[in-house]
Order: sequence, then C-alpha cells, then structure tokens
Amino acid sequence: MRRPRGYVLVADRLFDGRGGVLVNPVVVVEGSVVADVGTRGSVEFPEGYEVIELRGVTLLPGLIDAHVHFSGLRTYSPAEALTTPPELRALRAARDAERALMAGFTTVRDCGSTIALHLKRAVSEGTVLGPTIVAAGRPICQTGGHCDIHYLPLEEVRRLGLALLCDSPWECRKAARAVLRDGADFIKVMTSGGVGSEKDDPRHPQMSVEEVRAVTEEAHRVGKRVASHAQGAEGVRIAVLGGVDSIEHGYFLDEEVVELMLQRGVYYVPTLCLVEFYKKTLENPPPGIPEWRLRKQEMCVDAMPRSFQLAYKAGVRIASGTDYYGPPLRAFGNHADEPIAMVKYGMRPEDALVAATKNAAECLGLSNVGVLERGKVADIVGVLGDPITDIEVLRRVVFVMKGGSIVRKVV
Ligand SMILES: [Zn+2]
Repeated sequence: MRRPRGYVLVADRLFDGRGGVLVNPVVVVEGSVVADVGTRGSVEFPEGYEVIELRGVTLLPGLIDAHVHFSGLRTYSPAEALTTPPELRALRAARDAERALMAGFTTVRDCGSTIALHLKRAVSEGTVLGPTIVAAGRPICQTGGHCDIHYLPLEEVRRLGLALLCDSPWECRKAARAVLRDGADFIKVMTSGGVGSEKDDPRHPQMSVEEVRAVTEEAHRVGKRVASHAQGAEGVRIAVLGGVDSIEHGYFLDEEVVELMLQRGVYYVPTLCLVEFYKKTLENPPPGIPEWRLRKQEMCVDAMPRSFQLAYKAGVRIASGTDYYGPPLRAFGNHADEPIAMVKYGMRPEDALVAATKNAAECLGLSNVGVLERGKVADIVGVLGDPITDIEVLRRVVFVMKGGSIVRKVV
C-alpha cells in the first residue's frame, strides 16, 4: 500500500490529554510523529500530505488501559486456565489485542500473564495487530496469596510457574530478578487478598513491607516500576510504604491511606467498572462462576465507589484500567467502560479523559504518548461526538492511528 508523506487530520474538536480542548483542530502527522497541532487557519498544510476530514469527530490522544490481562480465557470457570492449551489461549489473546486497538486503545498495560511478554513482541515486530503492550510477566505473591492457585497442591502451582510464590525479602528479591530476566517492563505484586482467589479475603493484607521493598529496590534500580494489587487499606499501606508506584483496585481505602498515597505520589487504578460487572453477575451469575467469588464481589460493591470518591476528592492521580481479561462482560474492546464508570460515580468527564490518556501514560512511565501535541508519537483516536458532553461516545471510535499508521477509519 502506498503511504503518503504524511497526514493532515481535520476534525471538529480535539482533547489534548491535559484537559485542554481545541475547536476546529488540525493535526499534522509526519512519519510516526505528531509534527504540528493547531486550529484551522493557524497550521500550514504541507505539500504531498493526505488530508483526512473527520466530520463530527473529536480527536484524542490514543487511549490507554492501565490494567488488563492477556489470558485468552473465555469463561469464569476457575479450571479453564489449566484445561485450555496455551497455544489456543495465545491465539485468542492475539485477537484480543486487535480488539483493544480497534476500540481506540493504542497502549495497554498487562498486569500479569505469561502470554503478554510474547504478544508484546509479536505486536512490535508487526506479526499481530495490537496496541503497544507494557507487560509484567509473572506476578509475585506470598504462599497462599492472590496469585497462588488455592485448590491445587503447592508443588503443582510451583511447577506450573504462572506466578512466583515468595516468603521472605530475599525470595522476593530473587523473584524480582527472575521477572526482570524474563523481560518484564514492570513488576506486579499482590499485597492483599482478592476477589478472584478462593481462600483469601480482599480486606486482609498480604506480604510484608520488607518483602515489597525488596521488589521495588530491584525494579527501581533498573528504571522499572512496581504495581500492587491491593484492596484492603492495610494492603495498600504495606504497598505504599514498600515503595510501589501504583495501587491497583484499592477497594477499601480510608483517609489515612489516601493521604499516604498523595504524599508519595502513588497512582491509583481503581478498576471501578468492575462494580458494574459485579452487580450484573450477582443478579445473573454467568456459567462456571464459583459461589465464593460471588460472595466476595458482594463484599466489595458498596466500598468501591466510596474509595474512588475519597481518592478523587483528595486529588490522588487516577489512571484508567479495566482489569478485563477476555470472558464475556470483561472482554477486550470494551475498555471505555472504565472512564464511563468514573463519570457515573462522580468524576468530571474531562478528568476521566485525562485518566485514560495523560495520567495512564504517566502511571506506565511513558512520556511519548498520552497527550496530543507536537513531538509525541502519533497515536491518535477519533470518536464521533463530544466525549465531554457525553462520555459514552468513547464507544463510537471511528478513527484509529497508531504510530502514524491508520489502522481504522470508518467515516
Ligand atoms: Zn488484574
């Protein structure tokens, strides 16, 4: 396919990722980079560039989902991961990557899976169409922790190697080094129980500050970040004191721990859209979902919006992440569910858009995406309508450009 020297995108509105809006914007894309941004009349149209008119469209920086898992799973049955061949799961995950990209999500962070490290490579070499992937590889938790598989014999969990179980600072340090050796972009730890693990409680802490600190020291000295799954306030406190860079879920926050997150500049990925998922599946349980999981979902639904509002009002930096991993209701392609849920539970639409662009990029440690301005990577999305007056239009993605290449255009 012939590629023009560059593109000039002309639209109705532009949201820059920082909170600013341009009316009648023009964006010049040269190669893989944004060469200029301005309003009509103020920006020169370079010769030989293809002009793309996007009528009724709002342009945004490529959207970012800061919390997914490329699992290739399609049901809520706990045994599916163990009974589905890994090759099949990897092929499904490749399809999921394409779905995310077509929905306008040009960057995603995989918070723990064995597939993502390889899928990331397949995308970057051009084998698979998908978003830029920032991958954690194998997550780290304590024996009996959230990424342990509680119904299997311990030896079997260790043999499977889907996660690393560690029970001292030195074991944690060694696990962190192993994950970095695998090629992880960041490290995921678990400092509380969770909804998806059978025998623990989301409110109870896991790991010690010393164990978390061993991981963050190893990551930080090679310029990488650490994200912690932490639902109860004590698990959040352990993670923050241990030096993590982002808190995932944070379902049961209190004022003290919110203050600590603020002081340390820790990002918060509330995965708030799961409230909707929890409510739907409590009303109408999908096949295979275990009873204990429903009971835990019920335990969290009221606390989640409360914690989100507490952190939002206090000014904690919030990033958008869905925790979607493949099954129905948590399928790839529906990543806009999170900014939409954020607005539903009291966030200004402008802030929800910042959470899904600039804040998410910063949370991932990426400085070349997340804002739409000169010099950034040309990851650009167009939605039909104005997401500031109606956040739901984030579902109406009509244009996707990744790294200067148009991957979707339906206007
Ligand atoms: Zn997750």
